[in-house]
Amino acid sequence: MDTSIQLTYLLSAILFVVGLKRLQSPATARKGNGLAALAMLLAVIATVLETQILDWTWILVGVLLGGVIGTAAARLVEMTSMPELVGIFNAFGGGASALVAIAEFLATPGIGASTTGVTILLGTLIGSVTFTGSFIAFAKLQGLMTGNPIIFPFQNAFNALLLLAAVSLGAMTLGVFGSGDSQTLFYMFCGLALILGVLLVIPIGGADMPVVVSLLNSYSGLAASAAGFVIGNTVLIISGALVGASGLILTQLMCKGMNRSLANVAFGGFGGTAGIDRSEIGQRPVQSADAEGVAAELGYVNSVVVVPGYGLAVAQSQHELRKVGDLLEERGVDVKYAIHPVAGRMPGHMNVLLAEADVSYDKLYDLDEINDDFGNTDAVLVVGANDVVNPAARDPQSVITGMPILDVDRARRVIIMKRSLSPGFAGIDNDLFYMDNTLMFFGDAKESMAELVREIRELA
Ligand code: NDP
Repeated sequence: MDTSIQLTYLLSAILFVVGLKRLQSPATARKGNGLAALAMLLAVIATVLETQILDWTWILVGVLLGGVIGTAAARLVEMTSMPELVGIFNAFGGGASALVAIAEFLATPGIGASTTGVTILLGTLIGSVTFTGSFIAFAKLQGLMTGNPIIFPFQNAFNALLLLAAVSLGAMTLGVFGSGDSQTLFYMFCGLALILGVLLVIPIGGADMPVVVSLLNSYSGLAASAAGFVIGNTVLIISGALVGASGLILTQLMCKGMNRSLANVAFGGFGGTAGIDRSEIGQRPVQSADAEGVAAELGYVNSVVVVPGYGLAVAQSQHELRKVGDLLEERGVDVKYAIHPVAGRMPGHMNVLLAEADVSYDKLYDLDEINDDFGNTDAVLVVGANDVVNPAARDPQSVITGMPILDVDRARRVIIMKRSLSPGFAGIDNDLFYMDNTLMFFGDAKESMAELVREIRELA
């Protein structure tokens, strides 16, 4: 029995890795997700059999409840709210790992300064920080609390002191400084860890929350891994480590896409719009065009580059966009799609949307691959993107200075589809709207795109 359990764990670990690998491309991602889900099912069955759990009632209740909530969430939650959903998932993941570690502490009185004791404390600390930190991240993203950084004097020093206090309490719990009431000390340790989670996330602004969610995702993996060590479950150790590593890689990708260091995101107090003067945003004159005019601008040129952004996801206009692309190609126009690494609200957000509309993957170009081509491009169609094409990133005084941008202003003609002159996620004005070669095509991206399809069909 033991060998077959271990072999099942090995099989599910392999399936997790293969599943992750398949997530690399939209073409194989769906299968990858299925493989990872199968791996999880195998791991759960093996664990239930290994621990000889006889009362299946609670397990079935859990499976049913989780299944209903998971199905409802998958069907009801919009793609644009994914960071919030992942935030809540992280909270529960971290909380569950912390509870496993806490239960193991309570089940092993007088554990002392052993490897297991240290692992229990690590699991409790990381899990609790993830639990409360993720709830704060969720509340900020959902607008349940202010998205602006909450800052007080000597905050980083205070947080460092709190961490030191938690570590000292942990050491006292394990009896490093002599004997004491280890249970009371442990509860104080848990309390400090929960407070630390709140304090670490409140100084980070709403605009940086997706990065924080990704970092907390990594923490929830580490907490699960620690829980795996505590209860001696190999597949939990491996799956936790995979989540920890992939969350960290994703965090780094996001930071690179915004040209920020992780330390700057975590301690910079950036990402709010409190200090920005919004009175002058959208006050300058712009040139605009209707669908007929835009169709004429796009239908008679050689090359068009489409730049999708968050607005495409909000409007769900990816299917109409593909129709526009197809119609232009039928007219002999070379159509490419330029993908900024942080367009939308998660890395890969635009790739997923375009894949959903069956836009061929070989027409998608990363920022590095396409940026030099804009100077030779006839027309750029920006669909609900704002910050990722904002030339202000080249201005050392701007809050988005240094963020890599798509150099669309270098194209001969720039057409921007959005509803108004409102700013994007960073909350700042965009000089691109006011340039001589720019035409604003105002309206909801879905309706505008449908009109554009009709008008391109009308062209001679
Ligand atoms: P932005 O948030 O900069 O701009 C999106 C634009 O879409 C808005 O200006 C809005 O203008 C427009 N819009 C909204 N709804 C619609 C609609 N229905 N139809 C047409 N337009 C619409 O998006 P970008 O994709 O350019 O930039 C992403 C931002 O998110 C960056 O600041 C990035 O740093 C940040 N971010 C991204 C992360 C990621 O991993 N992807 C992670 C962390 C942060 P209007 O209201 O006028 O219509």
